[in-house]
Amino acid sequence: MSSEQTYDFIVVGGGPAGCTLASRLAQLAGKPSVLLLEAGGRNDDRSLRVDGTIHVVEYNKYACPAAGDHGTKGVLGIGYAKEWEQDLPLVLDALEQAGFPRNNDHNSGNPIGMALSINSAREGLRTTVTDLLAAAPANLVTITESPVQRVIMEGKKAVGVESNGNQLFNIPVVHDLPAVGQGLRDHLFVPVAVTRNPETNDRNSFFKHQAAMASAMKQWETDNTGQWARYLSLAMMLMNEQSVGEVRLQSSNPDDPLLFDPKFLEHSFDRRACIEIYKHLMEVMNHPSFAKDTVSTIQGPSSESDEDILEFWRNNLSSTWHMTGTAKMATAYVTSATAADVLIRDYGLDEKARV
Ligand SMILES: Cc1cc2nc3c(=O)[nH]c(=O)nc-3n(C[C@H](O)[C@H](O)[C@H](O)COP(=O)(O)OP(=O)(O)OC[C@H]3O[C@@H](n4cnc5c(N)ncnc54)[C@H](O)[C@@H]3O)c2cc1C
Repeated sequence: MSSEQTYDFIVVGGGPAGCTLASRLAQLAGKPSVLLLEAGGRNDDRSLRVDGTIHVVEYNKYACPAAGDHGTKGVLGIGYAKEWEQDLPLVLDALEQAGFPRNNDHNSGNPIGMALSINSAREGLRTTVTDLLAAAPANLVTITESPVQRVIMEGKKAVGVESNGNQLFNIPVVHDLPAVGQGLRDHLFVPVAVTRNPETNDRNSFFKHQAAMASAMKQWETDNTGQWARYLSLAMMLMNEQSVGEVRLQSSNPDDPLLFDPKFLEHSFDRRACIEIYKHLMEVMNHPSFAKDTVSTIQGPSSESDEDILEFWRNNLSSTWHMTGTAKMATAYVTSATAADVLIRDYGLDEKARV
């Protein structure tokens, strides 16, 4: 990118948000020129797309979304895995007998009950952010391996960016917004691992044999099916945590990673919730319908006491990578003569989109 080039919009970061924004801007009637800068590399390697696909007819006892609850015109393909682990229906049936109500689609507006997660995959191929750019017109230019080190300001207006300038500098405070970086919220989870009766599944025979895995990969490369298109996992997850963390700079070098402190389990509500989640899971796992095929526990608390359950969470929890909330957008910055008006006036954005 030469320093002379100018664009109507520069979007920094080619994740789902950046790709959607850049693609939609480029499709506006006024055909603005849009530059999308992504720090990472290209992701068009097909092996990144190994996954399952929609095939709910066979398993509509467990997953049966109503057509009216979902859009179908978006470019991000989603679906249920086509080929299931041998014991997945068995586990789902056992959990239902243990008292979990079945929910055929937890994205219908009713999230309560046992439901299958939808994968970001369609027709055996994992969906990636690149799909968001498939319909982008030529007035969108995407450049990868272009980390932005600095936003160039004129007063408090951002007028450009600096990328790959090989400059390291102290970052001057141009506009002090103390709320940026605060308010970090995330989900957290911990896995409970048990050995199951090997006759109920074929995981051991698959993962212990290189030849079986290589042959399955060949099958996937041929028609996107086979054992590499399957999934199964059991995890306890806290979805509505009350602890609030923060993201901070660790130095004045813009290429240094940020410091994340999620402050997991800091709030007493979260600690209590984690103990109760584990106890609830145990009620289900000890139910005869599930327990009959459990051989041993591989990973779990050393006792059923609240202290040991909490210790287990502390030692084994992980982020679920759903960080959010650190870029506060105060309404004070969105006045009547701002972005929406410019988009409507200069680039033909539909007036209805203002809301
Ligand atoms: C391991 C993992 C599993 C996940 N699983 C799921 C899931 O199953 N379901 C789900 O809904 N969500 C999942 N998520 C969360 C989901 O990926 C994020 O919510 C989503 O990617 C956020 O999109 P975004 O565009 O806001 O940010 P990001 O995807 O983080 O995109 C930001 C982009 O900006 C680029 N960038 C950053 N700084 C610069 C810079 N200075 N210059 C240029 N480019 C820059 C980055 O390289 C990155 O590509 C998962 C996340 C992870 C990490």
